[in-house]
Amino acid sequence: MPRRSRAIRTPESLYEQNLITEEKLPEIRSVAKRYAVSITPAIRERMETPDDPVARQFVPTADELVTLPEERADPIGDAPFTPVKGITHRYPDRLLLKPMHLCPVYCRFCFRREVVGPGEGMLSADEMARALEYIRSQPDVWEVILTGGDPLMISPARLEPIMTALDAIEHVKVIRFHTRIPVVDPDRVTDALIEALGTETPVWVVVHTNHVQELGDAARAALRRLSSAGIPLLSQTVLLKGVNDTPTALEDLFRTLVANRVKPYYLHHGDLAPGTHHFRTSIQHGQELMGRLRGRLSGTCQPTYVLDIPGGHGKVPVGPSYLEDHGNHTYRVRDPWGCHHDYPPGPVPDAEPAQFTL
Ligand code: SF4
Repeated sequence: MPRRSRAIRTPESLYEQNLITEEKLPEIRSVAKRYAVSITPAIRERMETPDDPVARQFVPTADELVTLPEERADPIGDAPFTPVKGITHRYPDRLLLKPMHLCPVYCRFCFRREVVGPGEGMLSADEMARALEYIRSQPDVWEVILTGGDPLMISPARLEPIMTALDAIEHVKVIRFHTRIPVVDPDRVTDALIEALGTETPVWVVVHTNHVQELGDAARAALRRLSSAGIPLLSQTVLLKGVNDTPTALEDLFRTLVANRVKPYYLHHGDLAPGTHHFRTSIQHGQELMGRLRGRLSGTCQPTYVLDIPGGHGKVPVGPSYLEDHGNHTYRVRDPWGCHHDYPPGPVPDAEPAQFTL
């Protein structure tokens, strides 16, 4: 496809596009041998300088050659929860289906950077059949989350039978996509793609975007096409040093998303992926940023700040907390402006708390 062949995929084309200097070529060649590189024409257009918040996300640097002891190839622990190829089943009511290992762009902070990129692209027909059979065999699975790689890289013609198969599974009530496509390759959001997403089972789309500068007219139009088709839109953002780790950057992004019919869903703390230390902030800084947004932004613009616990132990909110328990069910509550207030004790529980099992 001509559109794909124009993506920037080599150190030489990064240099030709003035995204790196000639002196950097040797070190960037070393990075590109280890981690995939791709920049779509659409996201290249959103870069104004080689060091701006969009370019920093996609242009490789020598920092990626440094792996810290705490960084790991599988930072969120997918592997132990992989019953069959293409499936990650960590929670009882939902699982990940990863039909595609390719992305239109390769984010320099990617948490799956050891497994996405050139190599095998899609699951084979047999592998997909086994993955679908696994989903059929799990009656507690309420939601199937297509991720990857980027599942909207799959052509509508190849996506349609996957969607039909999922639609036919009685216990699957929601199909969710996690994707960068509407932002980084918005021309792929065609009528044919939207038709392929038009199952009886509701489809939700979670769009990955990290800075308002990514959201040009074409991306906004793609979001509009999806929402006009009745597809609810959420966003996920990674907190990235030098990209969006200021209150202003996050506020601009979240306001713009809501104004484009996208509800901010998650702000992810950076995962411990190899060669990504230069993007990670402290959790304390992330909490302070979220605290600053609390008094400034409508609740519709507030995502949940989350951390994936290394080793596959799940995703949890990491604050900030506004409530201090002073014992005897007495609380102090911090308001969005930093003042503290007592909150009266509630009724004393008269029964054992309900027991939940995972
Ligand atoms: S789009 Fe997602 S899976 Fe692909 S490189 Fe970026 S973070 Fe990784």
